[in-house]
Amino acid sequence: MADYNVIVIGAGPAGYVAAIRCSQLGMKTVCVDKWLNSENQASLGGTCLNVGCIPSKALLDSSHHYSFMQKQAATHGIKCDNVTIDIKTMQTRKAEVVETLTKGIAGLFKKNKVTSITGTAKLAANKQVIITEPDGKQQTISGDNIIIATGSTPVQIPIAKFDNKFILDSTGALAIDKVPERLGVIGAGAIGLELGSVWSRLGSQVTVLEALPDFLAMADRKIATLAQRELKKQGLAINLNAQVTSATVADDEVTVSYSEQQLVVDKLIVAVGRKPHTDNLDANEAGIQMDERGFIQVDKQCQTAIAGIYAIGDVIGGAMLAHKGSEEGVMVAELIAGQKSKMSYATIPFVIYTHPEIAWVGKTEQQLKSAKIEYKTGQFPFAASGRARASGDTSGMVRIFADAKTDSILGVHIFGNNASELITEAVVAMELEASAEDLARTIHAHPTLAEAVHEAALGVDGRTIHA
Ligand code: FAD
Ligand code: AMP
Repeated sequence: MADYNVIVIGAGPAGYVAAIRCSQLGMKTVCVDKWLNSENQASLGGTCLNVGCIPSKALLDSSHHYSFMQKQAATHGIKCDNVTIDIKTMQTRKAEVVETLTKGIAGLFKKNKVTSITGTAKLAANKQVIITEPDGKQQTISGDNIIIATGSTPVQIPIAKFDNKFILDSTGALAIDKVPERLGVIGAGAIGLELGSVWSRLGSQVTVLEALPDFLAMADRKIATLAQRELKKQGLAINLNAQVTSATVADDEVTVSYSEQQLVVDKLIVAVGRKPHTDNLDANEAGIQMDERGFIQVDKQCQTAIAGIYAIGDVIGGAMLAHKGSEEGVMVAELIAGQKSKMSYATIPFVIYTHPEIAWVGKTEQQLKSAKIEYKTGQFPFAASGRARASGDTSGMVRIFADAKTDSILGVHIFGNNASELITEAVVAMELEASAEDLARTIHAHPTLAEAVHEAALGVDGRTIHA
């Protein structure tokens, strides 16, 4: 008999959620994770809690408050002369937020009777896992099932190798202790824009270099154009068609060469994507298949080539987002328990936490056009929203695309304050296969930003009231 019904490797949002759900379903579950914090203590929650979603949002919120006090408070009659920022306090607060939440996962494991082991896991034959603990001690455990949730790490490019002093990965960029005068960012993806925004709001002169010709190529074009304009207004220089070819450090400066031009900065953040984390795992030797980029290959149920061994989250690629991994974790736990369960890949929301935020679900207009799907459009600007006016955040709009014949919602795209929260209404509507008419007939509280989603839904049928 195996030691455990399920061994989960990795306690990021994919692994810890899978482990809790497995335990809830009555399976004897262990979760092995190797993350240690700066004090060499186990710190559950993976990239997301330790160096990803949570610390980045803590800094985005701190820097937003600072920027608000400098630039907008006066319009509310609030005088904030000589506002200063103490980076050490800001970073300590971030660390406290992270610590509270990572300890919270340990508490959840206890409550749900998930056994937690700190150490590096390696796959061995017959669904055995060899764990090397931080003090070097080894133990071997066996499971009826294994869920690999080992996540991802930042991609390093040979022309700009991380030294985490001048050339930083996202983890280094979250830990900067003094506002750099000039900051370069390679990559205008979610991570590059969010980290660039943090330091720009705190006073850095930020230049973002993006190799692609289009800004946020995966987002709806109209939304991306509005966002690019707004970020530029905020002081973020975004250079498209800027393929970086070298970055050299000398005299405490980084000289970045791109597309026959040069940029000199005090620090450079490289945010060009993330790669699957399968080091130490011996996945290949265990018979697990990877694709050419190293992502573990799985079927629709997240099962690898070996029955009973599953992989979820960033390590299998697709949308490298915390909530995608968590939902895969829930699905796999339920499948192992013999229940029916499936993932709704078509309704995964995407969010970029700039200010205003960019959020979407479903198809973009360009995807609908290239697939030759006939659609109707409804859109509504936040400038016409009473709530947006009252708060003073009027940039952006909501766009809804609905099938021209069936009226089913095909995509919702938002650029605006609180878009990260507003998009959930669209996700629920799409998940429940609602039509634009269903959204239009749903009563929305007044005054709320969500009324803009309502108005855009009304607009699909040409009956917007307030614009
Ligand atoms: P991870 O969170 O990477 O966790 C994997 C865990 O497995 C780690 O703890 C690792 O130490 C452990 N591990 C790896 N190998 C082994 C081994 N052999 N043995 C034992 N343990 C092992 N996503 C969002 O949805 N929203 C956001 O706002 C967002 N912001 C982000 C901001 C930044 C700066 C970054 C870097 C990422 C952000 N992400 C965001 C992405 C998000 O963090 C990831 O998609 C998510 O963490 C992936 O979850 P995961 O569980 O698959 O892997
Ligand atoms: P994401 O994968 O969403 O985090 O975004 C990373 C971005 O970095 C993508 O838009 C890439 O086009 C961009 N990128 C990758 N390599 C380079 C490079 N050498 N110079 C400039 N941009 C790059």
